[in-house]
Amino acid sequence: MEAKLKELQQKLEKQCQINQELQNENRTLEKRLKEKEKLLEDLQSHLEEADRLSQRSSSDGLEVRQSRAAVMAPEPIPEDMDISSTRVKKTTSERAQIMKAMQKNDFLIRLDEEQISMMVELLSSLDRCPGDNIITEGTEGDSLYIVAAGELRVTQAGRTLRTLTSGDVFGELAILYNCKRTASVKAVTAVKLWCIERQIYRSIMAIKSKKKREQLMGFLKTAHTFKSLSDEQLSSIIDSMEEVKFQENEVIVREGAEGNTFYIILQGEVQVTKKVNGQQKVIRKMGQGDYFGELALIREILRTATCTALVPVTCFAIDKEAFEETIPIEILELHDDPDLLENTQTSKKESSVSSLQLKDLVPVLYQEGRYQGNPITLGLGGFGRVELVTTLHHGKYFALKRISKKLIVQKRQEEHVLFEKKLLMDIECDFIVKLYATFKDSRYIYMAMDFCSGGEIWTKLKEAKRFEENITVFVAACVVEAYAYLHKKDIMYRDLKPENLMLDSRGYVKLVDFGFAKKLQRGQKTYSFCGTPEYMAPEIIQNQGHDFAADFWSLGILIYELLAGSPPFSSSEPQNIYARILDGVMKFPPHMGEAARSLISKLCRPRPGQRLGSTKNGMRDVRTHRWFNNMNWHKLRMKQIDAPTLKLIRKGPCYINFDRFPFDKIQDEEEFSGWDRDF
Ligand code: ATP
Ligand code: MG
Repeated sequence: MEAKLKELQQKLEKQCQINQELQNENRTLEKRLKEKEKLLEDLQSHLEEADRLSQRSSSDGLEVRQSRAAVMAPEPIPEDMDISSTRVKKTTSERAQIMKAMQKNDFLIRLDEEQISMMVELLSSLDRCPGDNIITEGTEGDSLYIVAAGELRVTQAGRTLRTLTSGDVFGELAILYNCKRTASVKAVTAVKLWCIERQIYRSIMAIKSKKKREQLMGFLKTAHTFKSLSDEQLSSIIDSMEEVKFQENEVIVREGAEGNTFYIILQGEVQVTKKVNGQQKVIRKMGQGDYFGELALIREILRTATCTALVPVTCFAIDKEAFEETIPIEILELHDDPDLLENTQTSKKESSVSSLQLKDLVPVLYQEGRYQGNPITLGLGGFGRVELVTTLHHGKYFALKRISKKLIVQKRQEEHVLFEKKLLMDIECDFIVKLYATFKDSRYIYMAMDFCSGGEIWTKLKEAKRFEENITVFVAACVVEAYAYLHKKDIMYRDLKPENLMLDSRGYVKLVDFGFAKKLQRGQKTYSFCGTPEYMAPEIIQNQGHDFAADFWSLGILIYELLAGSPPFSSSEPQNIYARILDGVMKFPPHMGEAARSLISKLCRPRPGQRLGSTKNGMRDVRTHRWFNNMNWHKLRMKQIDAPTLKLIRKGPCYINFDRFPFDKIQDEEEFSGWDRDF
């Protein structure tokens, strides 16, 4: 009996144990089920997002970029910004959390160490209650946020996209430019956020880049070899230099080895040793601002000493090849043949319609189709529209650009518009649209330009999907001529893209839209964030200061887009475009020829000073590249070449080469602040 009881007890215990295990298992299963559900939810929302994106990017299966690129207007950087007041003390663990969050973020991970620590320093803290809106879809953003604690929900058109928790970053595009928010973010629980405003971020980046350049300039000036060089030449050397890092104990140059690189120490300590009687002897120690390897730039040498990093060391370096391409820069050589150029241009006096008045201009109307009888709009831009007009007097066509004064003031573009007029009035180049007269009234300012009847290169590219090589060579050559003219006058163009290239009736290409052009002294940099994302050079994205080299970068992108049908770095999300540009990995389609690949790669080198066009022979290096072998530059300037683009131009009514736009009856508001006094 007792034995039976014991047996039963044992069975009972076993059963209990099994029950317990089963219960445990149940719990884990439940937990796993919940996890799976969450994963599924996440996947679902990702999938929907991806769907949405792919629908947007491949709506009708064409390879060509379908939508017009959004433009970034340069926003002035406030000079008197008090940055120190926004500094908030942070604990070590808070710092660690912020750094970790930044490393997880595709964009922020690209900032350098100093920029990261600057940013950590300047983040301010923000507490929000459950239900508070942090970001509202459709509004203009001005801050980036990092979640320190709490939970937030991201929604788009009322649909939940994801949940954000501690360590997540959001709104990062807003620190680059004033973009519209594409989703809303709301606090679910009480939240603590770290945040930084764009103006603060941009100011510090610009100040830091400027300081760094000044510091490097100071270092270079002490080097013997560079004594005879001007500030401008030193500045271009800086543009060609690259940052390199060495670990503790790493040998930077070894005695007896072939050397071809020059280094300046930015941070850390380097020990110089030399073999004397078979023994390593310490010669000296070097620190910030010291340099070595100077001789390697001028002649082939074997290193005469060994330099070793004593601690982690950061240097700025340039090798012989890049150096030779940078110095001496023959600035005056930018244009081959100025005399010839002048002969080919029609003199302004001869063709000027100086007495032209706004009241003399009458709109030209669509002759058929659904807009029949309405005024013809040639194109829409960020600030207004361009209409086709004519004069009753001599029947000449003009493209009349009409810009809303109110919008200009709102977007703080007064300076740019005034400059665009001043600049275009001054320009006499066959490869740049001609401005005849400007007018203003209470609502608009107007610019009467040459009508380029062949239409936009953008439209032609959309129709052709991609251009044959000879057409692309011709278009690019016209741009090179326009660049040569502008750069010689110290003007950067900064907005190259197919949308801003127009064809005249003979198929010759003209640059239009000088809204972003800027005059810049040689050797100087400018710090505004502007352009079209796909065409922006890496130094613009990184706020490092840019110059004429950014125009050569965009020429490389243009050649690529014309040959391939879409630009090399593209995505429907701007932050992905920027990330790709900074990664710099360019894939060429198989049909693209070797010479084109070579030219594009040389124009799109990451370091501005190494780009073809910015190197010592200037524009000549671009013109003599083998991709342009069949181009007769002289004949091009004389307009003696039969333009291969002619076959892209349709025959018919004068607006046949343009998209059609409905008439805009709504008038813009009046604006009386008087900024346009000089217009
Ligand atoms: P963006 O947003 O590009 O800065 P914008 O307001 O400065 O635009 P433009 O780019 O100068 O305007 O012009 C807008 C469009 O009008 C052009 O893309 C082109 O289609 C058309 N257009 C401009 N100038 C001319 C011209 N001279 N002849 C014919 N069409 C023109
Ligand atoms: Mg434009």
